[in-house]
Amino acid sequence: MLNYTTKEIKERSALVVNPAKTCQPIGAMYAALGINKCLPHSHGSQGCCSYHRMHLTRHFRDPIVASTSSFTEGACVFGGKSNLSKGLETVFELYNPDIVAVNTTCLSETIGDDLTEIIKSTNLPEDKVVIYANTPSYVGSHVTGFSNMTKAMVSHLAKKERDVPSNTINIIPGYVEPSDMGEIRRMLKLLDIPSIMFPDTSGVVNAPNKGKYEMYPEGGVTIEELKATGDSKATVALGSFSSKEAAYELEKRFDIPPHILKLPIGIKATDEFLMSLLSLTGDVFIPEELEIERGQLLDVMIDVHHHYHGKKVALFGDPDIMIALTEFVIDLGMIPKYVITGTPGKEFERTIKGMFEKADLKECVVKAEADLMTLHQLIKNESVDLLIGNTYGKYIARAEDIPLVRVGFPILDRVGHSYFPTVGYKGALRLIEKISTAILDKYDETCPEEDFELVM
Ligand code: SF4
Repeated sequence: MLNYTTKEIKERSALVVNPAKTCQPIGAMYAALGINKCLPHSHGSQGCCSYHRMHLTRHFRDPIVASTSSFTEGACVFGGKSNLSKGLETVFELYNPDIVAVNTTCLSETIGDDLTEIIKSTNLPEDKVVIYANTPSYVGSHVTGFSNMTKAMVSHLAKKERDVPSNTINIIPGYVEPSDMGEIRRMLKLLDIPSIMFPDTSGVVNAPNKGKYEMYPEGGVTIEELKATGDSKATVALGSFSSKEAAYELEKRFDIPPHILKLPIGIKATDEFLMSLLSLTGDVFIPEELEIERGQLLDVMIDVHHHYHGKKVALFGDPDIMIALTEFVIDLGMIPKYVITGTPGKEFERTIKGMFEKADLKECVVKAEADLMTLHQLIKNESVDLLIGNTYGKYIARAEDIPLVRVGFPILDRVGHSYFPTVGYKGALRLIEKISTAILDKYDETCPEEDFELVM
């Protein structure tokens, strides 16, 4: 399928082949689904909305609902004001959400529709809420869209009602799976820390099948909780690309100190997450349950390190996940030969280069705003033992006969990601299992008969 990918790498500034990202509104829509009883609304043409819904539906294998302003030729010429106003009135009348989260698209951004003015002049039911984010897809990626909608939750809803901050800590979990958000919440509960996590898609896009269709499942942060984020004593933002803007907005508006951390993927990043939480609460004890989980993870790392130690790995996907994963594979003794993200950002390259330098890894390559063709060409020049990334990596995996561990967004051809976390100690254990299994399966398939072992 990728038979024509050449080994020779040429500088391409105006051509992307097999992008390692998707468009802003997808991330905005995913973030919006993390609000309880929220209907995402796409301000643009139907095709955009269908694509965004379909992509999310395929990844989560759950029906993703969203409405659209449904632009036609008229809206393209005269603007989408009447489409959005009429659309919002109809949505509240027919589907009765508590809140609608509007994202723009390339078209409405190019026209220059003024969402503030349009929504202000729309006849909305008194008890209902509309928030919105500008998400032009010719800037950034789906991660930028997630960040913009998460920031919009703060700028439209957060309030300061108290003179003295509450004991609550705001947690912004980043662009991760609902299973990861659930795992973060479980760790917070074990630490007994009062928190507001937003967005929270657990229980929404991985809701249980109850035998009848529910348009708004039980999960998601509530509007009341979002309002109360303005009274919290601190914000912990996980993953700077997807979460820091909302944390800075809370600081700007309400003077709430932001703490920007890596996603808690891997043992070191999970330690940092838990220790940062403890330092914010003044507590000093880690609950026994988490200590046991950490000890088990350490035990497995020691038991099976010979499976992956020294193996070369290519990683591609969203920047926050790549940053945490790179640190984790270095901790496992692997060599992160290539680390690629499609999302732009020099900060990404600086952070990963810092990790290479610290681990004395001289021949490794990091690229932001890169595509999968570049990754494939790099692999053609010097191959790796393992690929870690989303489903789109399967074409390179097949062409070069390299095992692929699926992590990130989107995963369109396997199940499990919505239900089993990759964050926390439990998530790290699962990642080790997947990495180790992929490497050993490949070895079992290809090794000479005399090396085919029962015990490995
Ligand atoms: S037109 Fe823009 S917003 Fe719509 S699907 Fe394409 S990239 Fe995404």
